[in-house]
Parts: sequence; C-alpha cells; structure tokens
Amino acid sequence: MTAVPSRTSVVVVGAGQAGLSVSYYLQRLGLEVGPGFVVLDRGPGTGGAWQDRWEALKIGTAHRINDLPGLDELGLSFETADRQRPAREVVAEYYAAYEQHYDLQVVRPATVRRVFNRGIDLVVEYTDASGPHEIETQVLVNATGTWGSPFRPWYPGRDSFAGEQVDTTTYRAAEDFAGKRVVVVGGGTSAIGFMLELEHVASALTWVSRRGLEFREEGELNLEDRRHAVAVQDAAAREGRALPSIVSGTGVPRTRRIQSAMDRGLLVPKPMFSSIEPDGVRWDDGEFVEADVILWATGFRPELRHLAPLRLREKEGGVTVGNGSSWKDPRIFFAGYGPQASTIGANRAGRTIARQVMRQLADS
Ligand SMILES: Cc1cc2nc3c(=O)[nH]c(=O)nc-3n(C[C@H](O)[C@H](O)[C@H](O)COP(=O)(O)OP(=O)(O)OC[C@H]3O[C@@H](n4cnc5c(N)ncnc54)[C@H](O)[C@@H]3O)c2cc1C
Repeated sequence: MTAVPSRTSVVVVGAGQAGLSVSYYLQRLGLEVGPGFVVLDRGPGTGGAWQDRWEALKIGTAHRINDLPGLDELGLSFETADRQRPAREVVAEYYAAYEQHYDLQVVRPATVRRVFNRGIDLVVEYTDASGPHEIETQVLVNATGTWGSPFRPWYPGRDSFAGEQVDTTTYRAAEDFAGKRVVVVGGGTSAIGFMLELEHVASALTWVSRRGLEFREEGELNLEDRRHAVAVQDAAAREGRALPSIVSGTGVPRTRRIQSAMDRGLLVPKPMFSSIEPDGVRWDDGEFVEADVILWATGFRPELRHLAPLRLREKEGGVTVGNGSSWKDPRIFFAGYGPQASTIGANRAGRTIARQVMRQLADS
C-alpha cells in the first residue's frame, strides 16, 4: 500500500489486540491490505493501549497477555517474555514485529473523528499529520478499546479540589507522588496495584471503594469466574445497556502479593466519601482526610464518540452488540467490546468477526 486509498472494503479502527486480530483473519480469508482493508490507529507507536501504560506494570504483574493469532509463526510468545520487563515495552515490540511480519501496514497516527453514511457506504473521516482525510468503505470494524475514555465519577466539589486529580491513564510512576497525601479511589486491580506501588512513597495513603471488595481465594482468576464475568458483559451488550465493570463479575484474585499486603493492613478500603473539598475528601459522618492527590482508578467506558452520527446508541446507554456485530447496522462490527474486552476475548473476536465481515461483503 503506497498511499492510503480513498476507498476500501473494510476499515478497522484501532490496532490493539482486537484490531490486529481481526486484520490477521481478514487477510487469511483473502482480503488484501489497501483495496480489501485499511487499519487506522491513533497511537504514535505500536502496542495499542499498552504503549501508554505505566512502567511498573510488568509482564509478570499483568493478568495474562494472550498471544495474538499467528504470533507463534514469529517465534514469539508472551508466555516466555521476561516477566520483569515493562508490559508496555514488550507488547509494543511484539506487535511491531507482528504488523511487519503479516504486512498489515497500519496507518498511524491517524485519529478517526467521525463515521457517517453516504448512500449505502460509510465514510470514515480521520486526521493525520497532513490534515483531514476520508475513506469510503462498505464495512467498519470498531476496535477502539476503552483507554481513551477513563471514567471519573462525579462527586460534589470535584472541580473545587486544589490538588491534583490523576487517573489510570495519566498515572506514570510512583515517584511522582513522593511525600504527597494520596487518596486512591476504585475497587479493581488497578487501584490495588496503585496502593502497593505507593505504600512506601506517599506520605499518607487512603483507599476508598464504592463496593466492598470480593477477594477470590485462588491466586488467579479461574474459568468459572471468567465465564460469569463474560456472560454478564455479554448480556449488557446484547441489551444495549452500559457495560458493567469487569471486576464486579470476577472479584479480585488473592495473589501472594495481595495477601501479604492485606496481612500488613494495607488493603482495607474505606467506603466512598460523599464530597470533595479544596484540600481533601469528606464522608457523610463528618470525617475528613486531607489530600494532595486524588487518584481515580474507576474504570473506563468504550470509546464510541466517533460513531455518534450513526445513532447506534440505545436509550439504555450502550450499543446493542451480539457476537461482535451491531444489531442496528449490519455494516458495523465491534471487536474487543464488552465480553471480548480481554486479550483472549479480542483474539476470539478476530476470528468470528472476520467471518461475519466476509459474509456481509458477499451479501452487499
Ligand atoms: C490497566 C489495565 C491492565 C490490563 N491488563 C490486562 C491483562 O493483563 N490481560 C488482558 O487480557 N487484558 C488486560 N486488560 C484489558 C486490555 O485492555 C485488553 O485485554 C486489550 O489489550 C484491549 O485490546 P483492544 O484492542 O480492545 O484495545 P486497545 O489496546 O485499547 O486498542 C485500541 C486502539 O484503538 C486506538 N483508537 C482508539 N480510538 C481511536 C480513534 N478514534 N481513531 C483511531 N484509533 C483509535 C487506540 O489508540 C488503540 O491503539 C487491561 C486493561 C487495563 C486498563
């Protein structure tokens, strides 16, 4: 592909695990990069959202990063990667090798601004360093993940806080919080990870969570937990509801590291505060904790803003998606959405969505 075409059969938006997996299968099913499919990605480099994750998140502390389909052909596997290396580096390297090996020719950095109808086709409007462009396409696979839409719940006084408000996407390194009084908000593994990292760095550390935490006895998520969590996500996606948090379906695995932090009393969350004041947070009973930083580890929402002109959103708050395809518009697919939002789910999505895309192209 010497230049990005102005027309193609399929546009894949996003080159994370989901977008790359779909692209791999589209190619195997006979589509050629360029006239057959084009992959657009906003990130400056390879790795999807992993390229932006913080340095202390190592291969060994991530849940488990599943190999992309066909990664074995390159002699690579996350299973054998150095567990001490930052996940963001290893994922970026492996994805780069993968894109090159399969010649996927991802266009980056290219941000999709809007997708809209023109006759029976879709128009994908995107910007790159040279300005705005359009591609006409028959089918769109949206694989934009959630990293670009961190969710910060609203509490009274939130905008009056005089300190710093950071979220999972803007957290860089524990040292940035040296000597500061930090309130960590959230009930998932990111919040717990931040508590562990900041334990000996922050001058005061308070953990608050909306829900009581349900710890799983097993050190790893077992299959039943996953199945249940995936089924809950799937039901929400099929009914067009906003997606629930993953951790509400799985609980948090009680790893040795987490157990030992619990034993020393670090991981005891307070209930959620009720308001925010310029210099701290306050509970209903009047208790007040001073804070320099509020660290929101409160999850994400799917990134779908660019699809607004297609009017896919339901009044229930989500889009109706079953098996990766939109129920409102057969030209639109969602890879990595809801029940597919894990590296293994994204891999599976790649295969099923690519097959459905080929059927849609054949029918149109
Ligand atoms: C902190 C954290 C840790 C995690 N750890 C694990 C783990 O250990 N194991 C696991 O299986 N899962 C983990 N997950 C879930 C993980 O995010 C997914 O497994 C998977 O990597 C997501 O892949 P994806 O392709 O759906 O999304 P992403 O990796 O987010 O890729 C989406 C891509 O789309 C691009 N994009 C977004 N919007 C646009 C646009 N408008 N135009 C163009 N491009 C766009 C983005 O730049 C990005 O490159 C974790 C999630 C978080 C938040």
